Amino acid sequence: MGISRRSALKAMAVATATTVATTLKPQPTQAAAVVARPDAVGMLYDATRCIGCKACMSACNKANNLPPDTTLSGGLWQMPLDLNERTKNIIKLYKDPATGTRSFVKRQCMHCLDPACVSACMLGALKKGQFGVVSYDPDLCIGCRYCQMSCPFNIPKFEWSKVFPKIVKCEFCKERLAQGQQPGCCEACPTGAVIFGKYTDLLADAHARLAQHPERYVPTIYGESEVGGTQVLYLSHVDFAKLGLPTYSSEPVPTAVRQVFQEIYQGIIPPLALYALLAAVLMRSRRELTGEAHDREEQ
Ligand code: SF4
Ligand code: SF4
Ligand code: SF4
Repeated sequence: MGISRRSALKAMAVATATTVATTLKPQPTQAAAVVARPDAVGMLYDATRCIGCKACMSACNKANNLPPDTTLSGGLWQMPLDLNERTKNIIKLYKDPATGTRSFVKRQCMHCLDPACVSACMLGALKKGQFGVVSYDPDLCIGCRYCQMSCPFNIPKFEWSKVFPKIVKCEFCKERLAQGQQPGCCEACPTGAVIFGKYTDLLADAHARLAQHPERYVPTIYGESEVGGTQVLYLSHVDFAKLGLPTYSSEPVPTAVRQVFQEIYQGIIPPLALYALLAAVLMRSRRELTGEAHDREEQ
């Protein structure tokens, strides 16, 4: 036990030194164009094909072993108001009272090509890895919630009700992808409103739909350029802003995040050491309590 604690603290100290060195290294102020990695997968959501059945929401909970959020329905059916600690995927309804125009919109992590959450996480709990998926490692997370604050799409949620809270967000069903399966939401959709595929194929598909049916869509693909591009792409007959998808330029957010954090860190190197120590203590306590819980279960 003593050795592992020392190892953990040593590893934390090394990680902190590396983080400080990396963070304080001058960063380029001009954002380079972001290119999807060759193995990048994607999700294309076409709002004109969505009937709001929410099969994708149930499938998402099932794929992620999450209980449905039935709080607002008195325990009767899944009815979250927004993404939350039990909801990684949500279908919302937009309705224009003046014109009667309606549209559904699906929200989940966008799997940004250059994710701000990854840049903001000092301990590497969020990573962009295989297939371009932005995944989360709870064992490296200390609950600082910088990823939440940095996300331009307000995606990561926090388990406020738990003693050791984690971040909750769509990880593109990474376990299913590893087994050659498609994400739960895409598999469940009965109308093909949300489909899974290679990122470049889906982008080409979206362009083809726009070219073939210009009367059906607003003439852009949301996610093609916003914040440098996202692996989740949208087509719609309603302005994206009205659907709650924020308007952004093609400038990746991590550029700004890195600059802000660089300035913050320059003033807080001593507090950062304290932060690292606190992180080590928290992670050690969590491991000990988790170990005690396991011991109790085994007795
Ligand atoms: S949408 Fe937010 S949580 Fe998802 S990859 Fe982009 S920055 Fe990260
Ligand atoms: S990819 Fe998986 S986790 Fe993400 S929204 Fe779809 S079902 Fe949910
Ligand atoms: S399963 Fe498909 S059609 Fe049904 S709500 Fe989800 S995206 Fe829309």
